[in-house]
Amino acid sequence: MAVQQNRVTRSRRNMRRAHDALVAGNPNECSSCGELKRPHHVCPSCGHYDSREVVAQATEVDLDDDAA
Ligand SMILES: [Zn+2]
Repeated sequence: MAVQQNRVTRSRRNMRRAHDALVAGNPNECSSCGELKRPHHVCPSCGHYDSREVVAQATEVDLDDDAA
């Protein structure tokens, strides 16, 4: 097992981690609803992909009807 020879200071460690931040992807505009979406993914807001609906969007459920 490799054993480090020198202590890595907080400063050195943090300098190394300065480049570790994740960056947001490159969003595209949905062709059907105009919302920003990830490229090559189904639109999360309208469920369309390649200009057709592939995921049915849930309609609003009225919970009050069940209670009565
Ligand atoms: Zn959309």
